[in-house]
Amino acid sequence: MPTTIDHWIGGKSAAGESGRLAPVWNPATGREQAQVRLASSADVDAAVAAAAAAFQSWRHESLTKRSRVMFRLRDLVERHELELAKIIAAEHGKVVDDARGEIVRGREVIEFACGVTSALKGGLSVDVSGGVDSYDFREPLGVCAGVTPFNFPVMVPMWMHPVAIATGNTFVLKPSERDPSASRFIAELYARAGLPDGVFNVVNGDKEAVDALLTNPDVAAVSFVGSTPIARYIHEQATANGKRVQALGGAKNHAVVLPDANMDWAANQLAAAAFGSAGQRCMAVSVAVAVGDAADELVDLLKVKAEAVAVGPGDDPESEMGPVVTRAACDRVTGYIDSSLVQGATPVVDGRDLKIEGHQDGFFVGPTVLDHVTPDMDVYQDEVFGPVLAVVRVETLEAAIDLINANPYGNGTAIFTFDGGAVRTFERGVDVGMIGVNVPIPVPNAHYSFGGWKDSLFGSSHIHGPEGVQFYTRAKVVTARWPKHTEAQAAQLNFPTSS
Ligand code: NAD
Repeated sequence: MPTTIDHWIGGKSAAGESGRLAPVWNPATGREQAQVRLASSADVDAAVAAAAAAFQSWRHESLTKRSRVMFRLRDLVERHELELAKIIAAEHGKVVDDARGEIVRGREVIEFACGVTSALKGGLSVDVSGGVDSYDFREPLGVCAGVTPFNFPVMVPMWMHPVAIATGNTFVLKPSERDPSASRFIAELYARAGLPDGVFNVVNGDKEAVDALLTNPDVAAVSFVGSTPIARYIHEQATANGKRVQALGGAKNHAVVLPDANMDWAANQLAAAAFGSAGQRCMAVSVAVAVGDAADELVDLLKVKAEAVAVGPGDDPESEMGPVVTRAACDRVTGYIDSSLVQGATPVVDGRDLKIEGHQDGFFVGPTVLDHVTPDMDVYQDEVFGPVLAVVRVETLEAAIDLINANPYGNGTAIFTFDGGAVRTFERGVDVGMIGVNVPIPVPNAHYSFGGWKDSLFGSSHIHGPEGVQFYTRAKVVTARWPKHTEAQAAQLNFPTSS
């Protein structure tokens, strides 16, 4: 019998009442390794009720106590990093060292949350009027929900829950049903860190669970990260139900290489950003925009780099790149390579027929480089979410910027050059939320906020960092005066003005 992965509600494991289950695959072997429970709306309501009850006391815990929980959680996550990375690798397929990288980046958000006292500092203006002071402070919203994708099962939820919880909210996480075990593990670490029962809950599930979160009146805010069609749906439904929402969607990240760039550096960075995690990162570089004379040299180098990537199961220390997450993902990615060749792209490296010794049933696609890709091709228009790098050739920096701005996505982009003037033109000219300069995956440090533009983000707030604190709290502004017991003032019916 495969293992069954339960929910975590009110500080303990819960089977729920739905009885529905979904398979959890081992992408390296192609075999089912566990089953995850799919919550009914009643199961979700139970988790929200636990979180709503816990909110009544958690909201009043001192900032010192909340930040101490975060300090302890941070240490536990560090201590269990390898164990957690192996859990991620087994269900997602990425290599263990890559999984450790996402844990470190997630931990940075916990470190930010340890400083919640600074992050929540309000303002005070003395004597805004004669004898009158004004000050403001921020309070938590209540029960916040997170709905997260398969590709970063630890880091993306950590963009949300440490900030929400440290600012005084309680949280219900609905992780991806494809790799749910890491979230259960984090729930147990929170309990060991001293977080009271019900403050952090995990419900596993699919659309039924998500819809129950979107309609439950006790959910105050929803943070979503996933594909663009679902992000759009979540934004529409959550706002229609009166909730605060931030919904981060898919991406098509372009890296522009100018002829003066350090070409070997650029090719290395592009290969790492295109093929790391088998291209299943929202910040993966999927389009290399080669400007002018850069193209031929860049393509030659990319061929060498792509062919050198060691592909294998995530738990093999020799592997640099693992499989994609499911058989369906594998078929989708190879389908895009097929169609690109029919539509006129030139195959430089073709990963379709890769077979890994001893893992013939695994969901492997090899690193792929396609040259002479044009914007009308399916492989350019859609988010492929696999280890496929499309090279588009343009003549000028301005044409590269126009190409990026014509794309519906605006998550991340990068430029490789030594020309500061070109960088300035680029960073001011692109309609994209996160920009790298000789850096291929510009995921901001946790003290900044993360977010794209256009179809890569619905809602007005980026995630974690200062905008995360704003998202999970609301302001109160106080106007105060302290008259003497004996002081008299006649009633004045005119609108009060400052003096
Ligand atoms: P997905 O949209 O399929 O799933 C994301 C979450 O939504 C999961 O928890 C899933 O259970 C739920 N969901 C799926 N279908 C639903 C439906 N019809 N109604 C309600 N909920 C539903 O995404 P995925 O395949 O898990 O992850 C990959 C996608 O996430 C890519 O598009 C990637 O670019 C994107 N992503 C974006 C960012 C970012 O920061 N912008 C970060 C990571 C991943």
